[in-house]
Amino acid sequence: MSEIAWRLTVFIILFAVLALCEARWPRRRRRQTRTLRWGINSGLLLVDVLAQRLTLGAAAYLMAVHAQAQGWGLLQLVELPDGLAALLGFVLLDLAIYFQHVLFHAVPLFWRIHRVHHTDLDLDLSSGFRFHPFEILLSLLYKVVLVAALGVAPWVVLLFEATLSGASLFSHANLRLGTGPDRLLRWLVVTPDMHRVHHSVVPAETDSNFGFFLSCWDRLFGTYRERPGAGHEHMTIGLDGWQEPQRLTLARLLRLPFAGK
Ligand SMILES: [Zn+2]
Repeated sequence: MSEIAWRLTVFIILFAVLALCEARWPRRRRRQTRTLRWGINSGLLLVDVLAQRLTLGAAAYLMAVHAQAQGWGLLQLVELPDGLAALLGFVLLDLAIYFQHVLFHAVPLFWRIHRVHHTDLDLDLSSGFRFHPFEILLSLLYKVVLVAALGVAPWVVLLFEATLSGASLFSHANLRLGTGPDRLLRWLVVTPDMHRVHHSVVPAETDSNFGFFLSCWDRLFGTYRERPGAGHEHMTIGLDGWQEPQRLTLARLLRLPFAGK
């Protein structure tokens, strides 16, 4: 199966399963209609996919193939069993994505781009692909450099990218898992309740829980926050000053990196 067909299949299956689960076990009452937000978020997804296909496309994967052929990267310097090298490559990529997310919050220029993601007034699986195309392209470039530096095997890159998009749908889902399953899952991966804290309007909460897939990085680097101060049902989602839906149309979101406060 080609790289794009593989990613698309995983994405569609996960989207369908999660959408059904959200409808059956919703976590919060919505402020906006699903039609409106899904329209905007899918619009961004479409622009993102086009931007990727017209530019770097499967660059990370192709770089992995090239790096492997040339013997580039940290993981190719040491003799490791294939399984261990794959696991290490996957975990290191996830750690790097954690740092990328921290940087997107810390560097003002990057924050201008990343805040598009944070202006969603509700959270559901569609928030998982609400990113400005600049963020997608920057992230792609970053991954290309990483893959070359680490020497991650091409199939691990494919698996990682599919996991990352699946994890993004899952961690943004408006899904009630129940306290027990949430606590259990949270030891390994980022759950919707864990990631929702990151979308709180309270700045200290926005600057916590940066992890995308594995939950250990936030605990390790001291950015972990168990729950939002106001509770999951009553917390406000979004950014202070960006609470009016009329400022958050697709066209305005695309221009948002250039907008003022
Ligand atoms: Zn963020």
